[in-house]
Amino acid sequence: MEKGRYAAVVLSAGRGSRMNASVPKQYLMLKGRPIIYYALQTFQQSRVEEIVLVSGQEDLDYCQKEIVEKYGFTKVKAIVPGGKERYHSVFHGLAELDRLGKSPDYVMIHDGARPFVDQQMIDRCVRAVEAEQACVVGMPVKDTIKITDEDQYAVDTPPRNRVWQVQTPQVFSFPLIYQAYQELLRQESEGKKIAVTDDAMVVETICDKKVRLVEGSYKNIKITTPEDLEIAEIFLYHSVRNI
Ligand code: C5P
Repeated sequence: MEKGRYAAVVLSAGRGSRMNASVPKQYLMLKGRPIIYYALQTFQQSRVEEIVLVSGQEDLDYCQKEIVEKYGFTKVKAIVPGGKERYHSVFHGLAELDRLGKSPDYVMIHDGARPFVDQQMIDRCVRAVEAEQACVVGMPVKDTIKITDEDQYAVDTPPRNRVWQVQTPQVFSFPLIYQAYQELLRQESEGKKIAVTDDAMVVETICDKKVRLVEGSYKNIKITTPEDLEIAEIFLYHSVRNI
């Protein structure tokens, strides 16, 4: 029986320079709504009780008025500024959840640039995290992956059934992930070079904890380049989702 309290940190800071747009990618319009709307709507309708939205300092007002108030996202309890790298933004979100004083049992960390997270995916994460404390959604790769050397020559070809592309949500026991991030930031303040691109890496390296991969969806794309926006429009065009 699942009975944990869930919170979500939805990431919406970062400028998204690969989109070549003047507006950060998560605020570009998709079927008449900003991209970030779709993930927030899914969490608003889920078992998550509170959401912290992390945005750029200059977008705090826009997020409050044009997103949270306009669409009635009552579960968004705070909007906080992000940091230089994604992991700084995550840490700000987790710290805000802690500051709100009702530390959740579990937290779902999600890229606001992934509009196609759905309730089934969230349910799979809930089952996995309550059993294992740490899980991330992803999908096995469809293409063969090559590891190259610095000169772009192939040096390794990992077996395809063992290679997954990792998505979000990434879901953890709140004390586990918050302590791991606190330790990461402590190491950075001591001058250690940090190269983490997802939350699972933080848990794997700092806590020596195994992270379970959970089935995501090939539709759960991160909108990064202009082609992704075209694909997302097609997904939405064919979707029965009621926006
Ligand atoms: O840059 P990337 O595509 O990996 O970003 C993934 C997610 O992390 C996006 O939703 C973006 O808004 C967020 N991000 C952030 N703070 C940063 C960089 C990225 O919140 N400094």
